[in-house]
Amino acid sequence: MGLFSNNKISRDDLKPGDHIYAWRNAYIYSHHGIYIGDGKVIHFTRGDGPSIREGSVLDKIIVSSVTNHGGYNPCPNCGKRSNTRGVISSCLDCFLARGDLHLFKYSVSLATFMTKLRGGTCTTAPSDPSDEVISRAKFLLMINGFGDYHLFKNNCEDFAMYCKTSLVVGQSYVLGRNGQANTVGLAACVARMLTPLVRNVIRLFSDVGMRKDAIKVPVESLVAWRNKDDTFVKRERRLQHTNKHSVLTFYKHIVKFRFVIFSKLC
Ligand SMILES: [Zn+2]
Repeated sequence: MGLFSNNKISRDDLKPGDHIYAWRNAYIYSHHGIYIGDGKVIHFTRGDGPSIREGSVLDKIIVSSVTNHGGYNPCPNCGKRSNTRGVISSCLDCFLARGDLHLFKYSVSLATFMTKLRGGTCTTAPSDPSDEVISRAKFLLMINGFGDYHLFKNNCEDFAMYCKTSLVVGQSYVLGRNGQANTVGLAACVARMLTPLVRNVIRLFSDVGMRKDAIKVPVESLVAWRNKDDTFVKRERRLQHTNKHSVLTFYKHIVKFRFVIFSKLC
């Protein structure tokens, strides 16, 4: 599998703050995380539960991003996990799930980026210092604060890239500019019909390191914005529920009123 093994590294070469990944399910997708030292990795997983895009073919393939040791047989290195989904910490073996260790590369040249046949292995964006990367990952772990897992818009690669760069795209803090999404998304399906050169140019301009609308957002601001957004969504849902309830009550009154009038007439 030479196409995907260029970034393979040995465990001895690992450094705290590295963005690492391992291929899953016959190279269908890769799972990403931040190595924090002492054999531990912080990563974002959908766990065993459904993601937002429940029901898609890929969701059915991606059952879980973490090795399943069985409910009563936890990994001796990880111990009992407080979280089984969202941002979690696990040992390197559980993260790799018997896959090979790969290093996601930052600050790659345009020429290097263009030679990659598959997204989700490198970016032209530079990495922040490793202490900042680890600090972001630990903060998001502590509050499990990276939101709901979404296969294309908010996945493990987005988490690791955000920890490495603190970059988000546009005013609405959109993530999801990850290489895997750019490889398997709708636009990529169209692009597959184009020549490899045109395809890679499209992928290049989707890269967070190339986008003019990418901005650095401190982790506390990202979490605060997401919480605010969640509150907004919950309020909207509550309002919709209240409106539905009001309409139902109104119709009940109409029916009751018509019944009373009909009774009096008879
Ligand atoms: Zn483990």
